[in-house]
Amino acid sequence: MIKNGSTIMKIIMCLFISSFLFCGQALSSQKTHTVFFEGEENELHVYRIKGTQSGKTLLIIGGIQGDEPGGYLAADFYADFLLEKGNLIVVPRANFPSILKMERQINQDMNRKFLDDNISNYETKVVGVLKKLICESDCFLNLHEGSGFYSQNWESEERNPEKFGQSIIIDNSVLQGKEIDLEKMAGRVVEKINAGIENKGHFFHVNNHMTNHPDSIHKEQLRSATYYAYNTCKIPAFGIESAKILPLEQKVRQHIHAINGFMDMLEIIPKNPNIDLKKPEMQYMIISVNNSIPVVVEEMQRLKINKGDTIKVHDIVANYERGLSVDVLGLGNQFNDLKNELVVHESTRIEVKKDFYKCGSVFIDIDPQASKGLSKVSVVETEAVSDLRFKLRINNARLFADNNSRVTVRMGDILVIEDILSGKVDPSNYVVNFKGFVGNLDNNSGEDRGYAIPISEKSLLKRYSEGNKGKIYHVITTVDGKEVGKIFIDVQP
Ligand SMILES: [Zn+2]
Repeated sequence: MIKNGSTIMKIIMCLFISSFLFCGQALSSQKTHTVFFEGEENELHVYRIKGTQSGKTLLIIGGIQGDEPGGYLAADFYADFLLEKGNLIVVPRANFPSILKMERQINQDMNRKFLDDNISNYETKVVGVLKKLICESDCFLNLHEGSGFYSQNWESEERNPEKFGQSIIIDNSVLQGKEIDLEKMAGRVVEKINAGIENKGHFFHVNNHMTNHPDSIHKEQLRSATYYAYNTCKIPAFGIESAKILPLEQKVRQHIHAINGFMDMLEIIPKNPNIDLKKPEMQYMIISVNNSIPVVVEEMQRLKINKGDTIKVHDIVANYERGLSVDVLGLGNQFNDLKNELVVHESTRIEVKKDFYKCGSVFIDIDPQASKGLSKVSVVETEAVSDLRFKLRINNARLFADNNSRVTVRMGDILVIEDILSGKVDPSNYVVNFKGFVGNLDNNSGEDRGYAIPISEKSLLKRYSEGNKGKIYHVITTVDGKEVGKIFIDVQP
């Protein structure tokens, strides 16, 4: 059933850099994902997380026996961690074939192959990798579910020294040669886990197997992964056993408490919460016209409608779920027009924001055929038009100004820079700044689209005009700080 092919190992390097965009200090935690035996039934995924600061390395192995989901589901969370300090090696599913069958083992118990190994099977190959990982680490947790409830004294068939449930297993009270007090380490974590358990009958206990002692009742553990860690790699190792009989959520939670307890002791500090300030990007929005079936309009597409149609933006899909809003330029309110029904008489644009950040556009075009009642609603692509134009309103008259052109206004006029028109480029990527006018006194972002700009000596700062004369002002369009367009506002008395 298991083919005996050569070991295929593929390393996928993923470098996750979480940067603090706004304080300018880039801190990084690295993550690598290694796939062993790729394409085989026993494909093995290993996640290594390296902290920003160096420190101890904790190995977490789940699913070495496939019928113990409390362990491997808990381990799985840690594959997504980023660390401030220290390192993790996470093997969430050591024995994937047995997990798929929800069985303890396929050919052999994988956790009984660490001492000697006379039978060659896929379990042998996986154990070979695990052994190397154990010796690379400073501490090792093997996550399990155990039958019954461990108790130091015989209480009942289900609660006695032979049972494993609700215990942290150690192979000896100290790690000989290194004088590390395993009993004390396990005891401290047991206390932490128990703080979250109400039912005293479910308390965790330290379970010392005294594995290599002549009187040990758990001699089979000489073949286990933790004993290999103890005896060969000389590192502290613990078997974490949630009682099989408990609800799955509780078992996972206990394992997480245990892992966190050991991380804390080893001074392995998670980066929490994960800070990933990726650039917001809208993918599409869902718009209905005249209450008909909503259509999907993607970033920079154009929705053609008839003059006087009602539109409603139902939803936005972006790489963020929260903080999204839409502004139908020139219509609705100045904050959020999501789910507003708006009657459209002129072509406009719908701008999407994630919080303050502009992250997408779609265009609403009034079809010139509309007045004849011939056109239907349709979604089309934006054509490539490279030249940039300014869409303005002076008092109530609409005006389109070509790039680098001159626009005449009079004292007392109200000028609105409605938008930038430029074919394939999303207008929300531009910043349009009337030099000498401050739209938002609290936050002068330089973006002046949409403001009613009174042409008066009071509203405009003369020192920004040509020669400080208060006659000619500049409206400058930039992308990423680079000037890409300009018009001249000529103020007449
Ligand atoms: Zn187990």
